[in-house]
Amino acid sequence: MLFDLTGKTALVTGTSGGLGAAMAIGLAEAGASIVAISSSNSNSTVEAVRAIGGQIEQISADLSQADTLESVFERAVSCFGKIDILVNNAGIIRRAPAAEHSAKDWQDVIDLNLNSVFYLSQLAGRHMLERGSGKIINIASMLSYQGGINVPGYTASKHAVAGLTKALANEWAGRGVQINAIAPGYMTTNNTAPIVADEARFKSITDRIPAARWGTPDDLKGPVVFLASAASDYMNGHVLNVDGGWLAR
Ligand code: NAD
Repeated sequence: MLFDLTGKTALVTGTSGGLGAAMAIGLAEAGASIVAISSSNSNSTVEAVRAIGGQIEQISADLSQADTLESVFERAVSCFGKIDILVNNAGIIRRAPAAEHSAKDWQDVIDLNLNSVFYLSQLAGRHMLERGSGKIINIASMLSYQGGINVPGYTASKHAVAGLTKALANEWAGRGVQINAIAPGYMTTNNTAPIVADEARFKSITDRIPAARWGTPDDLKGPVVFLASAASDYMNGHVLNVDGGWLAR
């Protein structure tokens, strides 16, 4: 029962594939109704949720456009009448050495990976604080701790996401709203396809993972259900590493 999400509505961003799609399906498997927001719609996520008898509504929106987020959030609330869980998953990565990193790449990454996370958390936070309960789960990264190579904007955004998780938890933990983050290790998705395609890099990363394999999107189903459910009610401002032991090495 601690993990049961029946009657809850989860808003998940970046659900057209990868980690967001798997987390939306995992939350639906635990009983939540899903509002799925992505820049591009995905019938496969909708079909997977409906196949298990779940409810899902899809909204197509570019979350990097800060001035549209209020109306996007209102549309999301109107789907099932409330939002109990927000999973801030949508994110992009731009790879270029720091000396040549363009201002556009920097700005695009910060707009989506950081600014949309704050603005959506603020909108959801107000909605949850009014009702005295809610769960916000941010998707951080190993680059919330480490520097990475050729991804300065991404690293800056993910360090900031870890800090924001703690900052909001300090303000809202006493008012029934839990905010935590998941830091995935190396997971096979579009986001990491260029690294997987680089045989030498892929091998050196795999060799360093104690679990001896990359993660799959399904590896996040359990952690996201845990952080979305009553099972984690006394967890606030925590960044949960789901990394096959990468950081323990
Ligand atoms: P992905 O590229 O497979 O999926 C990204 C999702 O975000 C897609 O659904 C896409 O439609 C959506 N999206 C992109 N731009 C958007 C925009 N402007 N507005 C709305 N939606 C937009 O990537 P992924 O690997 O599944 O990454 C999901 C999250 O996990 C990201 O925040 C990423 O930084 C993080 N992450 C991924 C890994 C990994 O190894 N794959 C590791 C750590 C953290």
